[in-house]
Order: sequence, then structure tokens, then C-alpha cells
Amino acid sequence: MERRRPSAIASSAAVQTAAPQNSAPRQPAVAEPAATNGPSARGPAPRPKRGVPEGLWLKCDGCGATIYRKEAEELLNVCPQCGFHWYVSAATRMEQLLDAGTFEECDADLKPTDPLGFRDKKPYADRIVSEQKRTGLKDAALTGTGMIRARRVACGVTDSSFIMGSMGSVVGERLARLVERATAGKLPLIIISASGGGARMHEGILSLMQMAKVSAALARYSQAGGLFISVLTNPTMGGVAASFASLGDLCFAEPRALIGFAGPRTIKATIRVELPKGFQTSEFLLEHGFIDRIVPRKDLKSEIARAIDYCGG
Ligand SMILES: [Zn+2]
Repeated sequence: MERRRPSAIASSAAVQTAAPQNSAPRQPAVAEPAATNGPSARGPAPRPKRGVPEGLWLKCDGCGATIYRKEAEELLNVCPQCGFHWYVSAATRMEQLLDAGTFEECDADLKPTDPLGFRDKKPYADRIVSEQKRTGLKDAALTGTGMIRARRVACGVTDSSFIMGSMGSVVGERLARLVERATAGKLPLIIISASGGGARMHEGILSLMQMAKVSAALARYSQAGGLFISVLTNPTMGGVAASFASLGDLCFAEPRALIGFAGPRTIKATIRVELPKGFQTSEFLLEHGFIDRIVPRKDLKSEIARAIDYCGG
């Protein structure tokens, strides 16, 4: 995708003035009550588990084996037989990655709106409400600060269960503010991507702008000497893969994650060439130099802590 960088979209406040001319009534893409910028001591809202189904036993999507659910959960939702990594929610990610009780959520009150009056099978405004109810999240990203083995970090996670983890205005705004917070506080920055949807089509150009906005914030963070560790998990696709997720000083990936831009069927239909085996997996991308290291979930915390120390963070 061609990336443009008009200066007007570099500011993280720009989404609020970017509503298209033909939308009536005009409303900002991000709704924000006054005085909610500061970190909040509240943790993420409790939400039902997804990925490891309820019940005593479950069938592994990787090897087909029947697995004792508790055993998989003790392994951070990883199959004990084949190492398949199941989905984990953004809130669970934070728990797995950060030292207990250290997470402080930022920008918790940013809420998505429907600036285009978009409708597919159902109106986007209704979809937002049902996704919020189902997941307990306001949108597809959770951001804040916390400690990793006693190292203070800024940490963001996208959640593939909320409209496929796609990047709408709120996801972009939360991540851009997180990067700015990391820049101001001279904190190492960790973003864990789980976004099958890329840019969120329901918000049209406003969601595409988030790619440039977050990337511009990351460029300023980099110029200030910050360390950005991007962790790509299953799936990381589209506009998320094509912007911040690929911009890490270090790019880690979980094993056998689907990572790419367009889906394989689209690429095949466009270029009419047989795609190589394992195309768009972590292992393939490691071989081709796109990512730096494959890190199993159980090692993620210690590997990130080690990288921070190594880089002098
Ligand atoms: Zn398995």
C-alpha cells in the first residue's frame, strides 16, 4: 500500500477534525470526555474467555488432539502436544506479560463513533455496541503502562476478537498516545499485535490515516532514542502489519502466526503464481529476514526483559 504523510495527520488530535464533508450530523471519530488523559488505576474490565473453549476438554486447532483444558491454560493457552498458540484476550495478555498488579490503563474512556454512518450487514453503530458487550472492551486495543520484571514499560495490545482487531480511529489514537507517552517518559515501548482485520473499513479513510499517524509518532519516538519491541501474533494482517507492527527496532513473533498484508487467495488471484509453502507464517518470515526472532509465549516476558537490558533501556 502506498503510504502518504500529509503533515495534517501527524498530530494525534487530527482524527477529531477529520470528519468527511458529506457526513451529517458531523461527529468526531473519537469521542472523548474531558479530563481522561491521565493514566487510570483501573485494570481492564473482566471479560469472558475466548480461544480456549469452555468445558473440561478441547480439540487443538493445530494437531487435532484432545487436550485437558486446564493443562493448556497453565501453559498460557498453548497446546502441550504441538505448541499451537491459541487466542488470548488483550486483558489476559497484559496479565501474562506484566508484573502482577502493575498495569495502569491509559485513555480508557476513548470510545468509537460512527462518523460515516456506515452500514454493512448491520449499522456500524449497532456493531460497536454488540462488540463492546460481547468483549468487555471499548475498542480493539488496550494500552497503558506497567512493569516487566521490574522494568517500567509502555505497553499496547490489539485484540482480534473485537471486529477482527482492526484499526479504527480509537485503536490508532490509543496507540499514538501510548507512543507519545513512551517518548515523554523515556519508556521502552511494547506493542503486541493480534489484528486480522488491518484498517477498519467501517471508518473508511479515517482508519487508513491511523497507519500514518501511529507511524509518525513512532518516528518521533525513534528520533528520541526510544526502544520499540513489536510482537506479532496470530493473526497480524493488513494495515496493522503494514504500519506500526512492522516498525519495531526488534520484531518478535509467536510460533506459526499468520502474518502478512493481503490474504493468500487475494495475492494468488492477483499475481497468478503458486505461493511458496508456509507463506505468511512466522517461520517463513524469519527465514526471509522480516522478523528477528520467534519467541514462544512462555518465553515472551523474559525475552522482552532481556532485550530491554541488552539495548540499555
Ligand atoms: Zn496441538
